[in-house]
Formats: sequence, structure tokens, C-alpha cells
Amino acid sequence: MDVAKNIFIRVTLYDGSEGFGEVAPFPDISGEDQATCLAAFPTAAQALLGIPATQFRHISKQLLASTQSLPALRCGLETALLDALCHAARIPLWGLWGGADLRKRETDVTLPIGEIENVLGTAKDWYHQGFRILKMKVGHDVDDDIRRVAAVGSACPEATFVIDANQGYTFDQARAFLQAIEKLSIPVHVFEQPLHRDHREEMIMLKEQSAIPLAADESLRSIEDAYQLLEEKAVDIFNLKITKCGVIESVRIAEFAQVSGIEIMVGGMVESRVAMGCSWSLVLGMGGCTILDLDMPLLLAVDPIQGGYHYEGSWLHPWHEPGLGMTLDVDPATVTCIE
Ligand SMILES: [Mg+2]
Repeated sequence: MDVAKNIFIRVTLYDGSEGFGEVAPFPDISGEDQATCLAAFPTAAQALLGIPATQFRHISKQLLASTQSLPALRCGLETALLDALCHAARIPLWGLWGGADLRKRETDVTLPIGEIENVLGTAKDWYHQGFRILKMKVGHDVDDDIRRVAAVGSACPEATFVIDANQGYTFDQARAFLQAIEKLSIPVHVFEQPLHRDHREEMIMLKEQSAIPLAADESLRSIEDAYQLLEEKAVDIFNLKITKCGVIESVRIAEFAQVSGIEIMVGGMVESRVAMGCSWSLVLGMGGCTILDLDMPLLLAVDPIQGGYHYEGSWLHPWHEPGLGMTLDVDPATVTCIE
């Protein structure tokens, strides 16, 4: 991707507290885009006027009904309200979730599918900058994928891997890929979404045969999906993303995963530190997240945000200012206002 068409939302509460949210629609996953989100925004937002932000679970339920097929829009509105609420309460957003684990944490970094020489070059660049968890996209061509992963594995000997097929494989392809990776002894934390999200029986079979933990990403878009995936024992890990579920629905899924003994990884779409800061707040506040896939702001050409959390190489550091701790400095001439 060369460009992400996102939307920033600013909310002002009655006491003057302001909050920011980001809508980062990803058409391939949820079908929504910037235009559909902008069209639905006024109605969804106006319906919330007058409801205290302290009732954020009630608000989330209302948004779940009014923006059912627009989870990124829901996520943006929720983030802005929660940020504003935390500004009013003068607590960081992670404080709202309980501040379970405030350690700095290491994120992976994503290597897209491409020509092997190009991917190898990019991998070595990140590796030399200290990145040790490499996320490799696969799912187009099994042999090509195996060759690419093996090449990066031997060029970056201390690296460990997150592999993501984005639903690209058939059952036989996924099994062949897994067998090859196991034979090569490449250290893989997780294999994300090898099969199409509707092919649940094959997912269950694949999990039974795989020594590498499997994660649901595209298969996990609601708490109901989480219940079903657990009941069917279809995966080992849930990949949580606020942009595909909304913020409070993600909190519910994380709570459910923790009491059910399912591992949690936290990821994102193509987004800035606003949406990713909210995801990072869940890691800090709720604890129990084993894999962080929060690298996207590192890949953006421009960071439109001031303040908030920061990266030191592959490490995300917590912040201590209220809310997300961020301000948004944009040229007013480039802003479209919907009141
Ligand atoms: Mg994924």
C-alpha cells in the first residue's frame, strides 16, 4: 500500500475536554472505506450527543447497532470519546483498563510479499536496526513463500517470526508450508489466518496437525466469533484489532481470552499512532498480550501526531499524560469539517 485514506475524529465533552480518534478502514477485511465511513459518521455521532462519556459501554452497545458493518468508524468514535473521558479524569487511557503491565514492549515489523532480493534487503535493514521479530506475509505461492522465509531466516539468525497468510492458502498448501517451516526449524511464534475465515473445519484439522500455534485474524471480528473459535478449538491465539471489532468489543474479547486461556496478540491496520496508541493502551492496561504487531506507524512517511507513546527502535514505551497524551497538528486548510 502506498496510501491510507483514514479519518481523524475530535470529540469535545461538555466540560471542554477534548479527545482524538482515528478511523482506519481496511476495505479487504471489513468492506468499509473512507467514503462509507464519512457518509455514516454524522448520524452515528449525533445519536451520541447528550450521553455522558462515563457510559462508554452503553455507548459502545449503541454504536454496535448503528455502525454494525463499519467497525473502523465505531473504533474511531470510541477512541475519541475514551481519550476525552481520560482527559477529563486526568488519567492515561491505559489507566482506564487497570494498568496491568507497564513495561516497554517489543513489536514485530512487517515484510510484505515481494521479490526475494527486495524482501531480503528490507529484512536486513530492519535487523541491523535491532528488530528481532519479523512478520512475514505469505499466501500467494507456497514454494516461493518457503524460499523467502528460509532466506530471511538464514540472513537474520537471531530473528524470530510471525507468519501471516491473510487467508491465502488452501488446506493442503497450509499443511505443506507448515511442514517445510517445521523441517527448517525456523522459530515461529504464530501462523496467522492460513485459511479463509469460513473454512472452520479445515482450521480445526490444521491446528491438530500443527506444532506452530495458529491465530485467528480475519476469523475474529466479534465476541460471538471468539466464543465459537474457542468452542471449536479452532485456534491457539486471537489477533485483536480495534479497527475490526471496535474498542470495547476488543476489551470484551481480551477479557474472554484471558479467562479462557487463549493467547492474545494485538495488531492493527494501516494507521497512525492515534489508533495504535489506543491498542497499545490495551496491552499496557489489560496485560496478558504475548505478541505485539504494532509497527504500522514506523512505516508511515509522515507522522501527523505530537506527543503520546514513542518508539525506540522496535520498543514501544508507555506514556503518562492524560488520555492518549497526543495533540494533532494539521493544516486547517486540508481539513474537512463535519459538525
Ligand atoms: Mg493478519
